[in-house]
Amino acid sequence: MKCFVTGGAGFIGSHLVDKLIEKNYDVTVFDNLSSGKKEFIEHHMKNDKFRFVNADLLDKNVLSDEIKDNDVVFHIAANPDVRLGAKKPDIAIKDIIATYNLLDSMRENDVKKIVFSSSSTIYGETPAFPLKEDYGPLLPISVYGAAKLASEGLISSFCHSFDMQGWIYRFANVVGVRGTHGVLVDFINKLRKNPKELEILGDGRQRKPYLYVTECVDGIIFGFKKSNDEINFFNLGCNSTTDVTRIGELVTDEMKLENVNFSYTGGKRGWKGDVPHFQFDISKIEKLGWTPNLESDEVVRKAIKDLLKSGF
Ligand code: NAD
Repeated sequence: MKCFVTGGAGFIGSHLVDKLIEKNYDVTVFDNLSSGKKEFIEHHMKNDKFRFVNADLLDKNVLSDEIKDNDVVFHIAANPDVRLGAKKPDIAIKDIIATYNLLDSMRENDVKKIVFSSSSTIYGETPAFPLKEDYGPLLPISVYGAAKLASEGLISSFCHSFDMQGWIYRFANVVGVRGTHGVLVDFINKLRKNPKELEILGDGRQRKPYLYVTECVDGIIFGFKKSNDEINFFNLGCNSTTDVTRIGELVTDEMKLENVNFSYTGGKRGWKGDVPHFQFDISKIEKLGWTPNLESDEVVRKAIKDLLKSGF
């Protein structure tokens, strides 16, 4: 199988690439290195089955040329910072154009399968606990979430209009080694600067499910192999959640710090667009036979340990 991975030099994308290469597939990574790092894929550079294209999805001519002869596209590229949307909304909107360019290049070159990294943010702030995939209406509260929902819509419409097939995964918070952003990385960085004080955004009670990155990649590949509808869509996470204050405690514990003062910026959200509490129902993918091995708190502790060990 020939795989085209957008965002393959990023955190989740590079773990996906490791897994695809391990399975002996041919892999082309298409990444503009805006938030990805060449060092995350450096170990594959001499492999004949691996190819790296340093380019932007907004450059449709290059994209359309490079995507030829692939069997499946894993669309992992996006600006991952949910917070940015409230300051620079155009960044997430560019990701919608990127998804359109990708789908249209697939259409032009008869590439029929797309796997997409969507997000829990498409659901917005809902009264539903836990959240099932068929929840509606879908009213995201961040521009990032809106861009993911728009991309889901484009994928669905292209699949129907041009006989393609799509796999959409709405990720929980994904963490682990090579992580470059998010609450764990923020807390470690803050405590390295000042080991006595940890500023926590919001009231610390924001509570979400966490998924270890290698489990996320296993789930993506599992669902891709086991479902075969025109559009296949799944929540990918775990059944439990971890709150932000607990993450602070786990980080200070793993960094062996004592008497750290936690200060809170206040309010129920970390930032404008932050959904303070959600929980996934993952029974749809569980019924196919996939379930994560780690609970949310275990995921967070393992990710902190691995990040610290990697010395990022
Ligand atoms: P990341 O920033 O590490 O990876 C994104 C990659 O896409 C980077 O390598 C970046 O250089 C590349 N990229 C961005 N825009 C591009 C463009 N226009 N052209 C080519 N390459 C481009 O982020 P991540 O955490 O690995 O996230 C991967 C995907 O999963 C993203 O789509 C993100 O929105 C989604 N997601 C992540 C999480 C999470 O918790 N990390 C949760 C939900 C969804």
